[in-house]
Amino acid sequence: MNAPTPDPDCIFCKIVAGEIPATIVHASDDSVAFRDVAPQAPTHVLVIPRSHYENAAALADHEPATLADLFTTARAVAEAEGLAGYRAVFNTGAAAQQTVFHAHLHVIGGRELTWPPG
Ligand code: 5GP
Ligand code: ZN
Repeated sequence: MNAPTPDPDCIFCKIVAGEIPATIVHASDDSVAFRDVAPQAPTHVLVIPRSHYENAAALADHEPATLADLFTTARAVAEAEGLAGYRAVFNTGAAAQQTVFHAHLHVIGGRELTWPPG
């Protein structure tokens, strides 16, 4: 299947296109990782597919290899940041506090993380 066209109203498509700035920490052919603008921990990086899909399950349906890329990128980011452990989270749906509907993996670490999450 061909990659979906970017959504002109999507802030993360604009970051992928370089149309708005972001602090990019890792990039591959299929993904981009950049620091969250409102970090919830000393390390808070978002790893996103270059292609626009509204959530992780839609990405898995269409580009399963890219979904795997997001997790290997998360590991690379955690290693580069020297994290002993990290949380990797997809918020999916407004009820789970998803606010940007372009799939993104939160990579969070650098402080003690509690469980269960809020
Ligand atoms: P969600 O709530 O959808 O799981 O996560 C969206 C995340 O994107 C939030 O943590 C929010 O701080 C971050 N975010 C929203 N807009 C921008 C932006 O323009 N740049 C960056 N770097 N992060 C953003
Ligand atoms: Zn998008």
